[in-house]
Amino acid sequence: MGYSLTAVQAQQVLDAIRKDYRVYAPKRFPKQGRYSDTDVVRYAEVERLEDIVWQVKSDYPAKEVLSPIQQAVFYFTEDEYRASKGPNKPILILARPCDINAQEIQAKIYAGNGGYDDYYYQRMRDAVKFAVMDCNDGDDTCFCCSMGSNRAEGYALALRFSENGLACTVEDETFAPYFEGMPRAEYTHRFVEKNALEVTPPDLSDKAVRLALKSHPMWKEFNARCTSCGSCTVACSTCTCFTTRDVIYGDNPEVGERRRVTDSCQIAGFDQMALQGELRPTAGDRMRYKVLHKFHDYKARFGDRHMCVGCGRCIHRCPEHISIAATVNKMSGAVEDILASQAQEGR
Ligand code: SF4
Ligand code: SF4
Repeated sequence: MGYSLTAVQAQQVLDAIRKDYRVYAPKRFPKQGRYSDTDVVRYAEVERLEDIVWQVKSDYPAKEVLSPIQQAVFYFTEDEYRASKGPNKPILILARPCDINAQEIQAKIYAGNGGYDDYYYQRMRDAVKFAVMDCNDGDDTCFCCSMGSNRAEGYALALRFSENGLACTVEDETFAPYFEGMPRAEYTHRFVEKNALEVTPPDLSDKAVRLALKSHPMWKEFNARCTSCGSCTVACSTCTCFTTRDVIYGDNPEVGERRRVTDSCQIAGFDQMALQGELRPTAGDRMRYKVLHKFHDYKARFGDRHMCVGCGRCIHRCPEHISIAATVNKMSGAVEDILASQAQEGR
């Protein structure tokens, strides 16, 4: 059993929830898009039902709520420091299944990685509950079904917006009081079961295959195409890399704050070491690193799934129209070629 609410009733429920939660959802920011006269849709706190963009996928992922592109981690003076404050209220995020699955991946990377929990991520994650939103069949960059992230679990509410209002179910009983007196109706949440775009990651368990793939010519194509702008990783639902910057407030260099700022393995200099050495000096090297990290290394380390939820945001954001879906399928073709030539050589 669920609820069927008019827009006015849905606003009343939102108002009631907002007394206890900060509610985040995809929101449109007019004229702030990549090109002149275009909008951007990104996660932000919402107060009004009409602010929630449910018709299209957001340009940027829900991870921006949990790990903003920059955040103060601590403030320092000459002889002491103080950690920044965490969320002052529980948070409800209205997200698609890919975004909810992405947080399972991010939580594994941030929490317990190397024996240390990431305090700043964890205090946000502990404050967050999710409401899953209907995807309206997704768009032509979605391949969540290939990545097994078309369905979500553990959400508090399931929501289906329409021009007339909202259909929903309450999965977390602590949310039931917000719906008291609202009209009941049958509603079963529907997940996308097929995307137009299909991706077949290759089996990379064989080290000899991985080594051959490392020097495969397919990566050289990206030296000419990829501008190493890093937009794909900033828009990625699962990428977690960051660097730190100290911001000094005035003349005294010992008074300021330390921020952590999103970083990208696709940007030149990301892996620069002493004496200016770089492990991956070309765009092709960096693309190979990103793709193999997402479609081999993460799974090899954590054992459950690949580090991609098929949200397609990186495809949408890339100014060079580089598609990770096409790249992974191409990589599968390259692996087939490698296996065929190994068979021919009798290995
Ligand atoms: S790699 Fe691309 S498709 Fe995969 S999770 Fe990141 S943004 Fe989404
Ligand atoms: S793949 Fe596209 S978005 Fe990513 S760094 Fe290269 S040009 Fe930028």
